Amino acid sequence: MSAPVDDVVNASRQQQYVSDVASYREDFRRYLRDLDWAEEWRNSSFDNTEDELAYHAVVLSRVYEAGWNRYGWPELAGGYGGTEIHRAVYFEELAAAMLPVPEQHWTLEVLGPAVIKYAPELASQYLPNYLRGAEWWGQCFSEPESGSDLAGLRSRAVDDGAGGFILNGQKIWTSQGPTATRFLALVRTGTPESRHRGLSTFLVDADSPGITVRPIALASGRRELAEVFFDDVRVPRERLLGEVDGGWGVVMHLMQYERGMYGYASLTTALTELSWLRAEMAEHGSSSADRRRFAQLYVAVLAAQARAATTVRALAEGRAVGPNSSVDKLLCAKAERDINDLIMDARREWLIAGAGADGRELDAIRAKWWYTRAATIMGGSAEVQRGIIADHLLGLPKEKR
Ligand SMILES: Cc1cc2nc3c(=O)[nH]c(=O)nc-3n(C[C@H](O)[C@H](O)[C@H](O)COP(=O)(O)OP(=O)(O)OC[C@H]3O[C@@H](n4cnc5c(N)ncnc54)[C@H](O)[C@@H]3O)c2cc1C
Repeated sequence: MSAPVDDVVNASRQQQYVSDVASYREDFRRYLRDLDWAEEWRNSSFDNTEDELAYHAVVLSRVYEAGWNRYGWPELAGGYGGTEIHRAVYFEELAAAMLPVPEQHWTLEVLGPAVIKYAPELASQYLPNYLRGAEWWGQCFSEPESGSDLAGLRSRAVDDGAGGFILNGQKIWTSQGPTATRFLALVRTGTPESRHRGLSTFLVDADSPGITVRPIALASGRRELAEVFFDDVRVPRERLLGEVDGGWGVVMHLMQYERGMYGYASLTTALTELSWLRAEMAEHGSSSADRRRFAQLYVAVLAAQARAATTVRALAEGRAVGPNSSVDKLLCAKAERDINDLIMDARREWLIAGAGADGRELDAIRAKWWYTRAATIMGGSAEVQRGIIADHLLGLPKEKR
């Protein structure tokens, strides 16, 4: 029996988009332009993270249904194939249409590629749900005593001799942790002295017995992060990524995406923010000093994006990026912080007077400013990135400690 005509047409269109990124871009742009709910998506603003994630889950389910966020992800993960370049184009087109990136994409960009590489069977089981907004995960790497120095972390997993591991310990600063369905946990399986050679990575269900998730309220009052406690949590061996004690390889692979791909996507968002700001500066007026700052920032964002594009291309070609992604992370974090400083300064009067915006919109702007104070900390602090660049890229003499 032959396949229905619609299926054949869709399959050939998918193949065309995979092999010809320009046609994917063009048709995705047309889809966004003609979308009857684009205005609602564009102007959506929330006074709490839970509602924002819930709305963005609906956005993802619609975009997935139409197929557009499936390019750049392998078929086993629910995608249609293609490379990181498709994902970069997806973010660029959202920015060009001034549409906010669904929040779940940020954690997916960080966690998804490592699961695809080190645990393809877990990727095929769960990533299609991630792409359609039915679930999202938290990255449980940092601990109260180990953020920059992950090799010193203390949470442990012990082989229970019955096909599983028992996890104990505490994680902190888990983004999207309060509502996550699963956690990618980095824990020690070797001796305390084994440092990075004795770590392993597990995908753990958030509702496993023994897990306690405690939301952390940020300065804005939003509960975007969480502490996660593991108390004799049993995890089946099938939830291990790669090998026992092979967690550092997973971390290094993941960091390329956390610093490079995430960086590229966040720069496209930065351009959206600059577009909003330009419109407002034109409407409300601006000082010549602010206009100069705007121009300098715009150039800085374009330069950082050009730099991050080389990382995206390398990842698309399957080349390791390694410490080079620290340059992207540094430039992108600075741009994100500087843009929000300018937004705050340019809108100060407007924000104080509250003219022309409702309370929810003002709250969202302030929350974003607060959040970007952490841009040079999350994903590895700026100081640590400078150290990596000095040691591994510039070959400078070792710092005396
Ligand atoms: C908004 C936000 C979201 C986050 N999301 C996540 C997440 O989803 N998952 C997760 O696992 N973690 C997450 N983190 C944690 C983040 O990765 C860590 O905060 C970061 O790596 C720094 O670690 P730390 O907080 O332990 O600070 P520390 O490592 O204690 O550093 C303290 C200070 O010392 C400096 N320092 C440390 N080591 C060096 C060095 N070798 N050279 C020079 N200076 C140094 C640092 O730059 C910093 O200024 C998030 C953090 C924030 C703020």
